[in-house]
Amino acid sequence: MMGTTPILILKEGTRRDRGKGAQTNNIAAAKAIADAVRTTLGPRGMDKMLVDSMGDVVITNDGVTILKEIDVEHPAAKMLVEVAKAQDQEVGDGTTTAVIMAGEILKRAEDMIDQNIHPTVIAQGYRLAAERATELLGDLSEKVGPKDKATLRKIAATSMISKAISADREHFAELAVGSVLAVAEEVDGVWQVDKDNIQIVKKQGGSVTDSEMIDGIIVDKERVHTGMPTRVEKAKIALVNAALEVKKTEFDARIAISKPEQLHAFLGEEENILRGFVDALKKVGANVVFGQKGLDDMTQHFLAKEGIFAIRRVKKSDMEKLAKATGARIVSKVKEIEKADLGTAALVEERKIGDDEMTFVTGTKNPKAISLLLRGGTEHVVDEIERSVEDAISVVKAAVEDGEMVTGGGSVHTHLSLGLRDYAASVGGREQIAIEAFATALEVVPRTLAENAGLDPIDTIIDLRNAHKAGKHRHGINLYTGKVTDMRKLDVLEPVRVTRQALSSATDTAVMILRIDDVIAATEFSGGAPGEGGPGGEGDFE
Ligand code: ADP
Ligand code: MG
Repeated sequence: MMGTTPILILKEGTRRDRGKGAQTNNIAAAKAIADAVRTTLGPRGMDKMLVDSMGDVVITNDGVTILKEIDVEHPAAKMLVEVAKAQDQEVGDGTTTAVIMAGEILKRAEDMIDQNIHPTVIAQGYRLAAERATELLGDLSEKVGPKDKATLRKIAATSMISKAISADREHFAELAVGSVLAVAEEVDGVWQVDKDNIQIVKKQGGSVTDSEMIDGIIVDKERVHTGMPTRVEKAKIALVNAALEVKKTEFDARIAISKPEQLHAFLGEEENILRGFVDALKKVGANVVFGQKGLDDMTQHFLAKEGIFAIRRVKKSDMEKLAKATGARIVSKVKEIEKADLGTAALVEERKIGDDEMTFVTGTKNPKAISLLLRGGTEHVVDEIERSVEDAISVVKAAVEDGEMVTGGGSVHTHLSLGLRDYAASVGGREQIAIEAFATALEVVPRTLAENAGLDPIDTIIDLRNAHKAGKHRHGINLYTGKVTDMRKLDVLEPVRVTRQALSSATDTAVMILRIDDVIAATEFSGGAPGEGGPGGEGDFE
């Protein structure tokens, strides 16, 4: 009886891909992801326009943004998207590089699998190669410190050269370095930069070079009443997360009023409550109030009469930033507010930015509160500026925290590639082939930079190798002349962390994908309409 009917252990409809088929399929998916971003790499890379199902448009050059926007279905492809995300989280720049490297490492593995080299041998060789490359990277690194502003600005500018704002990169490099250094702290001899202390506020309109650094917090709101001052010096700030209005009853309530005096008393009572709020604030000496909830018209009127500046419906996250910056405590019962709950700032001022009024809280008690106000003609421009400035802030942070940098433009990758070839010979065996493949894969960075600049990739790689063999370890590609030159002289500098993280996440992911020889996938989920054919069916196994 047995043997006549196959034994079904998997649910009907389950797809299964085994052995070489599974590997080829996974590698093809990973390569497709790398191909999706490779044309954006470098200063002469192009941008992508992404349109989502709602018709919203994003124009960007940023690897991780592109991959987050496109809907990726294949599990191995998703793993490559994770490489970009990890790079973004750990470093904030180099996302395209990391993905292209992972794709290339896998592509080289495919050739070896075809030659019947076992994937675990390849994985082992790749691990050795990544370790050695990281050591070589350490030898290449040069020192940079927080005092070296000019160099930090070059690092920031390098990260922005491939972006739409490239022409104004000097301006934004200044902002990025200024803001990072303003929040940088030395703790036990180690520099730390908390990016959360840098608030980024976007306001459409004006020119991109109107973007500025504000030493303080910006709240995108205007004062509630025109009778209030627009400028309050030596501000004493109250942060209130309760509504300064009389609570409306939850259900329809009827209050029977039969005599005019009763109506008078009723309205008077309401007024008294609201006046009570303002009196409490006045008593402790507050001259600025940020309310997280509503402010009754009458309260606004009373506050204005007292010359108190007030804003309502401030976002919770802004309230928290204000508390941290000004030293204020957020109170929920205004009547119980005390002097100690107030925060301070040298100036609270309403300013007109573009068509809107915004509130600037500057000269705060905590000098580590910094904001960048980003301006640009259209929403798409401002959004891409934000992404670019975030990259710039990230590379400056990495350089300050680690204190080390290398030259870019394909110079590091060429150096590592040559170093790995020497190392491969010393390892020998089948792993040698994998290490050599890894070395070749690293050259994908200069090769893609050259391709995107319309240069001949083969000639360029040969020139690079020759320069590096002659000991010129800072030589990379001048993408505008096509010549191989000293990248230090061209001011193309990057924190070491970009390459170190790219090496490790690209290798980890490639190895993980290589080790898979069996893909068992549940019944296909029809993307748009979950619920149909999804899990939780009848559970039929017969
Ligand atoms: P990623 O998402 O990986 O950061 P980018 O599009 O920002 O991708 O490109 C980064 C690459 O461009 C790095 O390898 C960097 O060294 C290189 N690069 C940046 N500026 C120059 C330049 N002026 N000349 C040559 N290469 C450059
Ligand atoms: Mg970049």
